[in-house]
Formats: sequence, C-alpha cells, structure tokens
Amino acid sequence: MRFEISKVLDAIEGRVCTDPSLARAVLDLAEVIRYQDLDGGRPANLLRLGMVIDALARDLTEDNVPVYAIVHRALLSDADLTSNERMVVRRWADDGLVEVLDNPGDRMLEVADLLGLPVLSRARFDGLRGRFPWTVEQPGRVLAPVPGAGGPVFIAHVGGGNVPVAGAPSATGVKLLARQWRCPEQGCALFGGGGGGGAFADLARVERAPAGQPPPTLRGGVPTCPRHGTRLGDAGPRPRTEVLAVRIGGLVRRRFVLTEGQPVLVGRAPEQQGGIVLGQWLNDEARRWISRGHVRFECRVGEVIVTDVSTNGSGIRPGGSMAEPDRIALKPQQSRVLAPGDLVELYPGVQIGRADELPSGAAFTPNSVMAEAPTMAMRLPRP
Ligand SMILES: [Zn+2]
Repeated sequence: MRFEISKVLDAIEGRVCTDPSLARAVLDLAEVIRYQDLDGGRPANLLRLGMVIDALARDLTEDNVPVYAIVHRALLSDADLTSNERMVVRRWADDGLVEVLDNPGDRMLEVADLLGLPVLSRARFDGLRGRFPWTVEQPGRVLAPVPGAGGPVFIAHVGGGNVPVAGAPSATGVKLLARQWRCPEQGCALFGGGGGGGAFADLARVERAPAGQPPPTLRGGVPTCPRHGTRLGDAGPRPRTEVLAVRIGGLVRRRFVLTEGQPVLVGRAPEQQGGIVLGQWLNDEARRWISRGHVRFECRVGEVIVTDVSTNGSGIRPGGSMAEPDRIALKPQQSRVLAPGDLVELYPGVQIGRADELPSGAAFTPNSVMAEAPTMAMRLPRP
C-alpha cells in the first residue's frame, strides 16, 4: 500500500507547477491538505491535493490540469503529515514545482491577480477587495472546494456557480512576465537557471526554462524573489511562447509550452528530451500509425510551424474544420505555418492546436490522479 501511495503522490507531482503558461488555478497547500471533511481521515493528508486537482480537471473537462501551489515553509516539517509526504513536498520545493514561503501573506491572491487565475480556497477575502477587487466582483474567480458526491465540488464565493473562471492577467503581470528574472541566491529554484546550482547544476533534477519562471512578487514596486526576499535582476526579455494542447478522442489530454528557439517533438514516444509522449492515450491502430516522433513544432518570430517527421504523414484541419474535403495532407518532411484555428491531425481524433482554440468537445471523465489511490484514502462521505 505504501508503494501505491507513492504512485499517487508521483501522479500529483505532475499536476503542480509554477509555470504561468500552464497553471490553471492557485491554492494554498497548507489549507487544502487540512480539508478533513473531504474524506474524514487524519488531520492533514497530501492526497487531498489530488482530490481537489481532480475536481478542477472535471470542471474544466480537461485532463492533466496543473495548479500553482503556495506552500508555507512550516509545512515542510508539519508533524501531521507522514515523513513520506514531507519528503515529497520538500522535493517539489527543491524543484521549484511549488512556491515555499516563510510568510505567504497575500501571495496566493497576488499570483492569481498577476496571472488572471482562479483561486481555490475556503478563506474569505473581503478585507482585500480594495487591492484585489475581482475577489468580490468577478463571479467564479474564487471557489471553495467542499465535499460532494464523487469527491470535492466547487462553490463560487460570488455568483454561486461551480466552474472556475479565469480573468485577464493584470497589467503589472503582463509587464513582469515580459522579462526574465535572476535571483542572486545560489541555486534559487524559482529564479535560478544558467548555472545557479553551482557545482551541482548538472545534477539538478529539473532545468527551469526562463520562459517558465513564476511571476516575481512586488515589494514597494520592486520585483522581488518571493522565496528569498531578494531584489531580482532583470535578465532580458523573456522568450516568446505559445501554449499548445493535445486533444485525443475529443478530450484535451494535456497542454505544453512551445518556446521560441526550442522545437518540440510530438509522437507515440519521441526520443527527444522534453518530447510529448502520446502513447498512453492511443488505441492499437493509432499506435501503429503514429511514429515515435511524428510532428515537430517550432515557434519562430511569433509563428507556429509544424513539420511532419513521420513515416505515414499527417493532416491539417484548416480553422478546425472537421469536414473531410477541407483536410489538407501534410506529407512526411513537409512544413506548414499554423494559421489561426488550424489543427494538426496525426491520426483521426488525435489533434494538436493552440490551447485557447482547442476546447474539449466531448463529455469525458478525465483520468484521475487518484486512480491508484488505496481505497482507504478514498473513503468519501456519501451525502
Ligand atoms: Zn530566490
């Protein structure tokens, strides 16, 4: 059973990130792990994070939806967690997958404000409406995870809906995310990179791409490292990015970030590091058709270029049209610039396009990060 819990925690690890292009909601880990009423179990349980992430994926009808977690430093030594859970959270902290802070203060709301993300919390923010008016003015922007029939459900603080609503990133957020930042602290997991890890830089588990840096915090108007409280250096313009999504059988399975100058290979099992692996979602026929590396995406001067590198070829669905006469063949070694709305089709039902142009079309149940959870952890109350 220990082994199974580890597997669940590994699955959850794939759903926490501080990448502004990928995170879909912000939460406070110390709060979420204490939602004892979700399962009636022990006072603190890291698996509750998985339950809340699952609920978010269900509501957004999209698989592999990551959250931006703020973590109070005290959590790393919280005696209510198991030693295994504390170790996992420390690993997430070291890898910059979560943001660990000595004093989180309003950071959760600041991140949500800068990035335009919804907040998942039961806390009331009435006193902060001056600084963050959207907390009380925008329906669906703040939601409380509460016990429901099949796991947690969300209730909006304002408007009574239950689907998280994203806002626009604030003007300050747009400005901050146009630059790369450098923390003077050695090996900073949030704003390091470029040898920040010193002698062991090559051993770092995760290489943080500058394009995936979290938003700095502002102290007196100065961009500051939220972890170290140090003033950040401006390291030049941030590389341009485009967020693409993979839709298989009508359901968006995952998103990925395409950064200028860094091509990404997508296929059944691409050998390139950072390649997007589709194999686990494909049936036998699709697996036979789709090459290990099937298409390559590049972001160049703001355009997305796709090149077929497969054996069998691909197709373009212009403007997302599913009418067969509209489909344009993309033969092996052919390239094409993706026009607005265009989808690349590797095999019928296996499509890739810009994330904001590729809604989940089908009523599917996303894969649970809790699928491997031992039944004991899943003792959900049945109202
Ligand atoms: Zn730092």
